[in-house]
Amino acid sequence: MKVTVVGGGPAGLYFSYLLQRDHPEFQIRVFERNSRDATFGFGVVFSDNALEFLRHDDEDTYRYLKPHLESWPDLKIVHKDQVMLIDGIGLAAIGRLELLQLLQRRCEQVGVQLSFNSALFQSPLDQHKADLVVAADGVSSALRRVYASTLGSTESRLKNPFIWYGTTKLFDCLSLTFRENADGVFCAHHYPYNKKMSTFIIETDAATFNNAGFENLSAQATRDYCERVFASDLEGRPLISNFSTWRRFPQIWNECWSAGNLVLLGDAAHTAHFSIGSGTRLAMEDANALFKSIKAFPNNLATALKDYQKIRQPVVRKLVNAAKRSARWYEQMSVLVRSLEPRDFACSYMTRTGRVDEERLKKIAPKFMSSYRSPGA
Ligand SMILES: Cc1cc2nc3c(=O)[nH]c(=O)nc-3n(C[C@H](O)[C@H](O)[C@H](O)COP(=O)(O)OP(=O)(O)OC[C@H]3O[C@@H](n4cnc5c(N)ncnc54)[C@H](O)[C@@H]3O)c2cc1C
Repeated sequence: MKVTVVGGGPAGLYFSYLLQRDHPEFQIRVFERNSRDATFGFGVVFSDNALEFLRHDDEDTYRYLKPHLESWPDLKIVHKDQVMLIDGIGLAAIGRLELLQLLQRRCEQVGVQLSFNSALFQSPLDQHKADLVVAADGVSSALRRVYASTLGSTESRLKNPFIWYGTTKLFDCLSLTFRENADGVFCAHHYPYNKKMSTFIIETDAATFNNAGFENLSAQATRDYCERVFASDLEGRPLISNFSTWRRFPQIWNECWSAGNLVLLGDAAHTAHFSIGSGTRLAMEDANALFKSIKAFPNNLATALKDYQKIRQPVVRKLVNAAKRSARWYEQMSVLVRSLEPRDFACSYMTRTGRVDEERLKKIAPKFMSSYRSPGA
């Protein structure tokens, strides 16, 4: 079988590795528009159980990645200068570039052909005569757009602007720090992802963004402004840019995940707001699910692609809906930051997706909850 994979992100690389590992006779080629050592953003975070699928299905890769992850047992919320530790929230992080390079190495070890600086914009079916074309080309997938009506694609933007920086200030765990100034409210999602760097994503609401005049600020002035807002958290360390600009998170969904021999993986198929830290995990789980479906129906690709969607789409839909509820919470953060007291605020944060209620939170985070009495109690 000849397989063309468009996009060398976590989805495309992990899928290619799995398939090539089990089928050395297949010809698998990944086309990545960037060079080997370039990527967007900084580190990404996984919840403890996000990597359970990997431990369960592919312990070898789990063991291979694990030593490169920074992990910690608690989550920190800073509100009105009060620091609250939420126990029992195991999280781990890794540099996005490091993750990609580890997966690239794994692909090359089993014989996947990686082509960098190679962007494919049209359907490569004709050009490369592939039996299977995997669109793992991320949020702005050009392949998805070619087949948008068959795939039932929808695309919209969330309201809150965010900007993805890094910093050399090393934090001790995943922290959500809320700060207010005369223009409005800001939230920083920040955590270390190796021994030298932390991710520092700043999110604000549309009103604050306008009041601050970010639309007309240069990149340097934007960074200076953000460093002032979070001066006490950064403790003099600068924010570092990687083509960092304000963006609004794209919500992507597809009713159908394949069209003929073309199949969608990861962000090309669906997105989940970064506040639930799941996009990379979903991308890798998709890769694993597609691999398993192909394995289950080795002589019938059409059935394998249907099986992949049947198994994966309902699971992803649940997480995407949770991510939408999380994003809506952030869109109301100005009101919540001002109206709630720190412990109520932290509890509101922890229950924002509707997947965890106060009873469940008592089990997950007993130390935090023992110090919390809900206003109605
Ligand atoms: C601010 C922010 C923070 C995030 N934080 C987290 C987090 O903490 N945890 C988490 O799990 N997820 C996080 N994510 C989400 C995560 O980055 C994505 O969900 C994940 O990268 C999806 O993997 P993917 O392989 O599907 O797509 P991508 O990682 O986007 O990879 C797609 C690849 O395709 C390439 N490509 C695109 N077009 C073409 C083309 N025409 N030809 C060839 N190559 C092409 C791109 O260069 C890219 O390398 C975050 C996202 C954002 C925006």
